[in-house]
Amino acid sequence: MSSYDESDAFEGASLAARAMAARGTPYLEGLNPAQRAAVEALDGPVLMLAGAGTGKTKALTARIVHLLKTGRARPNEILAVTFTNKAAREMKNRVGNMLGQSIEGMPWLGTFHSICVKLLRRHAELVGLKSNFTILDTDDQIRLMKQLISAAGIDDKRWPARMLAGIIDNWKNRAWTPANLPAAEAGAYDGKGPQLYALYQARLKELNAVDFGDLLLHVVTIFQTHEDVLAQYQRWFRYILVDEYQDTNVAQYLWLRLLASAHKNICCVGDDDQSIYGWRGAEVGNILRFEKDFPGAHVVRLEQNYRSTPHILAAASGVIAGNSGRLGKELWTEAQDGEKVRLIGHWDGEEEARWIGEEIEAMQRGTRGMRPIGLDEMAILVRASHQMRAFEDRFMTIGLPYRVIGGPRFYERLEIRDAMAYFRVVTSPSDDLAFERIVNTPKRGLGDKAQQKIQMTARENGVPLVEGARILLEQGGLGGKGGAELGKLIDGLTRWGRLTGDADVSHVELAEMILDESGYTGMWQNDKTPEAPGRLENLKELVKALEQFENLQGFLEHVSLIMDNESSEAGEKVSIMTLHAAKGLEFPAVFLPGWEDGLFPSQRSMDESGTKGLEEERRLAYVGITRAEEVCTISFAGNRRVFGQWQSALPSRFIDELPEAHVEILTPPGLYGGGYGAAGMTGGGGQGGGIESRAAEANVYNSPGWKRLQARAGQRPVAQPSEARNTVIDMKAVSSHSVGERVFHQKFGYGAIIGIEGDKLEIDFEKAGTKKVVARFISAADDIPF
Ligand code: ATP
Ligand code: MG
Repeated sequence: MSSYDESDAFEGASLAARAMAARGTPYLEGLNPAQRAAVEALDGPVLMLAGAGTGKTKALTARIVHLLKTGRARPNEILAVTFTNKAAREMKNRVGNMLGQSIEGMPWLGTFHSICVKLLRRHAELVGLKSNFTILDTDDQIRLMKQLISAAGIDDKRWPARMLAGIIDNWKNRAWTPANLPAAEAGAYDGKGPQLYALYQARLKELNAVDFGDLLLHVVTIFQTHEDVLAQYQRWFRYILVDEYQDTNVAQYLWLRLLASAHKNICCVGDDDQSIYGWRGAEVGNILRFEKDFPGAHVVRLEQNYRSTPHILAAASGVIAGNSGRLGKELWTEAQDGEKVRLIGHWDGEEEARWIGEEIEAMQRGTRGMRPIGLDEMAILVRASHQMRAFEDRFMTIGLPYRVIGGPRFYERLEIRDAMAYFRVVTSPSDDLAFERIVNTPKRGLGDKAQQKIQMTARENGVPLVEGARILLEQGGLGGKGGAELGKLIDGLTRWGRLTGDADVSHVELAEMILDESGYTGMWQNDKTPEAPGRLENLKELVKALEQFENLQGFLEHVSLIMDNESSEAGEKVSIMTLHAAKGLEFPAVFLPGWEDGLFPSQRSMDESGTKGLEEERRLAYVGITRAEEVCTISFAGNRRVFGQWQSALPSRFIDELPEAHVEILTPPGLYGGGYGAAGMTGGGGQGGGIESRAAEANVYNSPGWKRLQARAGQRPVAQPSEARNTVIDMKAVSSHSVGERVFHQKFGYGAIIGIEGDKLEIDFEKAGTKKVVARFISAADDIPF
């Protein structure tokens, strides 16, 4: 039974024959019957529609192994799509482990974007590009749009470039090119959207560049207009597998349908309750429509959850039950009861971060009545990336190792972006945006005037800026220091460009050479600002990162696609990431901070999309809770600093939706001086009221302000109170204070009021100095109970 390559031996095979074939297939043995059915139904469409943690990804992975083991497909004949690069890496590793060998040869296992880059490089000319096209990031995209907007004489203050970028992205997600844009879109962006879209696409072509949305759009266009190319890939990808299918957008859906329409060997897995990318054009309808698109599909439902304890599952189910129009799936588990979901309220975001830091250390030591939990086993999942800062600061202070996943932080730094612009011009000389970025960095005496001259020459000759600069110099159009320096830069670019193909110079050496000879490294060496040494270190780190790639282009591609940013230092670390980035992952202990109305559910999402937005936020809450295996800790803060302003907040409405029987309220350390250990856990024994108000009771911040906050919380309208976060300001509290009064603030201690401005008090604190604080959180000094 060495190969099933040409035969259809499985078709209609008897159970006994299949059992025989399954011998020596330990990867099948760990599956339950429903999963096994999904793995073994190799031919024809299969849909696995099931709740979180039921082993969809596990079954999908086993299916790949089964395809390979039975010889149904060679590694390069399987197209497997995951949602993030991290998920792809994990799946590759798991397949390798199950097969007992490494699988270098699975070139088509990746994200939609990474697979489309490969396809597009092969067929770029069919959409008017060269195969070495550049992938623009958002920054470049916006810069380009700004140029087009100003050339069209539009006031970009009224009509911001970001708005246009959002509209165009949306069109691309729906697979609408300028040519097939529906008439209903004609009014977009003050009626100029369609025209600017066409101009933008034309300009990208001139630059030999694409944006993120183009990766799919171009490939779909190629498939739709070149039957022969499509047919080639339909033959090639004999089996298609898609994880997280609920989050595909229209363009991705079309792409998959085109590829699968011939052999129909497509297996999609997903969960309608975990659809969290509606804001990016994902259509949960895709998964609900699967059976119509692929008649006769084998539909597998999985109900046993293998990930979480019953308390965690019940809490998640309680929250998601608030959504309408669900398919509604039963989930059960054999796991033991374990910890209840833990809920804790804090004074402010800083304290929340401090408490979580301490809690992580305590859990690591095993002093929380649970087994010791390793740092690698813990994750903090935030709604908004700005929440990360408090944790990063705190963890850095206490030396708690952490990693941030999902944010390309490193590659967003100025010096890294500059260096990469150099690499981009070298590998793709028509990349005008990159050239604009570096032409006068370091300063070469090429101000606006000189740059305009270069641009004009390039335009007159219909060539990229680099070429335009060369012509300008040849014509003697630019003299002086600027001319001489530009000459050096152009010579350098030519020389480095030639070296990209030189086998004697590695791309790592070349990168160093580019940064040194261009004067870029020197610029930071001569810089006396405190940041300069850090920037030089980052540049070194960048060159180090290059070593893992074959060439500069491969590296640039990687960076433009990067979603994961893991620092390379070894050792256990706590993971910090957004809820969106946590999809599909699991951790023994999960912290879900910032459960406050306005932050989570996000006000913006509710304002923009109403009930639909709120329901997507609720699915996000479901995703968050279901990431936890053993311990799930939800927290909220009464005050949060957002963009430098203190704002008070109400606990998230999702907290009210947690079923009480599965929640335990923790008492934070604080005013009464007992600390966590002494106060212990209060054990959910409150009388009446929702969990939320009991949390506040358990909460030692028993200030009058907090109580008023709670009273308001009780009256909160259920619809979207768009002002909710800002309307709780209590003006009475202001008038009850006067200048000179001695007061107490939980965080800053004792002080005297020196000024009153609206609801803010300026206070001279004895220990903390002068600060402005919100009046509501100040108590008269003699009210303090100790
Ligand atoms: P999500 O919806 O969150 O993506 P999922 O359905 O993809 O979840 P998996 O990640 O595949 O679920 O599996 C969840 C956990 O359950 C994993 O740790 C997996 O190893 C385990 N698991 C899945 N199926 C089984 C099984 N039959 N027996 C034992 N453990 C299983
Ligand atoms: Mg999964």
